[in-house]
Amino acid sequence: MNLEHALKDPIFKIISKSADELDMECYVVGGFVRDFLLDRNTAQDIDIVAIGSGIELAKQVAKNLPNQSKVSIFKTYGTAMLRHGTIALEFVGARKESYRKESRNPEVEDGNLDDDQKRRDFTINALAIGLNASNFGTLLDPFNGIKDLENKRIVTPLDPNITFSDDPLRMLRAVRFATQLEFEIDPKSLGAIKDNFQRINIITKERIVVELHKILESPKPSIGFLLLEKTGLLDVILPEITALKGIDDVEGQRHKDNFYHTLEVVDNIAKHTDNVWLRWTALLHDIGKAPTKKFSKKVGWTFHGHELKGSKMVYHLFKRLKMPLNDKMKYVQKLVFMSSRPIALSNENITDAAVRRLVFDAGEYIDDLMTLCEADITTKNPRKFKKYHNNFKLVRQKMIEVEERDRIRDFQPPVTGEEIMKAFELKPCREIGIIKEFIKEAILEGHIPNEYQAAYDLMLEKGTQLGLTTAS
Ligand code: ATP
Ligand code: MG
Repeated sequence: MNLEHALKDPIFKIISKSADELDMECYVVGGFVRDFLLDRNTAQDIDIVAIGSGIELAKQVAKNLPNQSKVSIFKTYGTAMLRHGTIALEFVGARKESYRKESRNPEVEDGNLDDDQKRRDFTINALAIGLNASNFGTLLDPFNGIKDLENKRIVTPLDPNITFSDDPLRMLRAVRFATQLEFEIDPKSLGAIKDNFQRINIITKERIVVELHKILESPKPSIGFLLLEKTGLLDVILPEITALKGIDDVEGQRHKDNFYHTLEVVDNIAKHTDNVWLRWTALLHDIGKAPTKKFSKKVGWTFHGHELKGSKMVYHLFKRLKMPLNDKMKYVQKLVFMSSRPIALSNENITDAAVRRLVFDAGEYIDDLMTLCEADITTKNPRKFKKYHNNFKLVRQKMIEVEERDRIRDFQPPVTGEEIMKAFELKPCREIGIIKEFIKEAILEGHIPNEYQAAYDLMLEKGTQLGLTTAS
């Protein structure tokens, strides 16, 4: 098959010329070829294999580029990187790999194209296109990856037990590609993941998280989480999620399976946001339910305090996975903590005061919190489904009204501490805090509007009540 039309970008002619100048064979491989054939135009990183030194080839390409791009060299890996506009070109010498049991870092020797294609994770990632003038555009597909692309299959080129045991990260990559591309993992490969899942423990947390993110960023993340669960990987990586599995039944009283519910929520939210941290929130919003679950004859199943418990678990989970313990984590924690608030509110008749309080507490996260709560509606009863969504519509409507009038979202006290001190000739003291709190409460309750004059008058009133005298 000739795929010259995949190589329209002028960069390929430059690589071709450079390789011929060095009398070196070279190929474009992996994701670029796969995504071209799948008509996914996501590939901004292009992998080039040289039969020889990838670093030398990269330098030659840089010489032939008009604007003398800088080559980054990674000596230990024998690779080189070059940026050209929005494209990142990665050059590597073809290699042959052999693995030892305790590490995913192989012994590496120089090899030919055939060796290099064999060390690749999946047949669909082992496709290569020739770049030299003599074979420009020729597809090399030793493992029939084209057929697997057509049949939408993830298959390892060699015995999957060896492929996955050599580099256990490939198990996660299999799940990730199955999710991103909506492909099926070949039964033999899937079986091999089930046999090798424990070996994921030798992979660094950072690499695991990269794959988790890619799964979460996919159109339908549940595909990945179901595969992770089925293979045993999820229990190793995110035991908090597998703990949500199952339905308990005591004297005919049952609760829903919070694992499947959670996956539905994640798929729902994926339709409404690309923010991966909001998707994390959907995944984690119920994790506090496993440790807080209780049964009583009177009220049946309860999960009291699961939001607070869950938000604390978020910290431990992030820490274990070596994810950043920064504002992103705090965002996830806060949304998990507040995840039941809009629901509780929409079950009552919705007062302005309750809406103001919700907006005040959620602050800048209010829109994301509403998106989470709407995604959380997974009832199969169409009447209830409609009712809950309508309730949230009402909450959103009320939020707009209240916000127009009182600007609670980024609330700043209308009267400052300094002004209170000046009005009553005070040094710093607890009365100032009491007055500020009183004004805030009056605004949230709707007793006064969020305006300077009204707040100032209320300050004078409250101060007098506290026995303070105004400066004259
Ligand atoms: P994407 O860039 O969309 O994540 P990709 O296929 O380009 O997909 P990369 O991680 O960029 O994935 O890797 C480039 C190529 O390197 C892959 O297509 C595959 O051939 C090979 N590869 C990457 N990681 C591994 C691995 N752990 N084991 C074997 N081959 C791998
Ligand atoms: Mg890539």
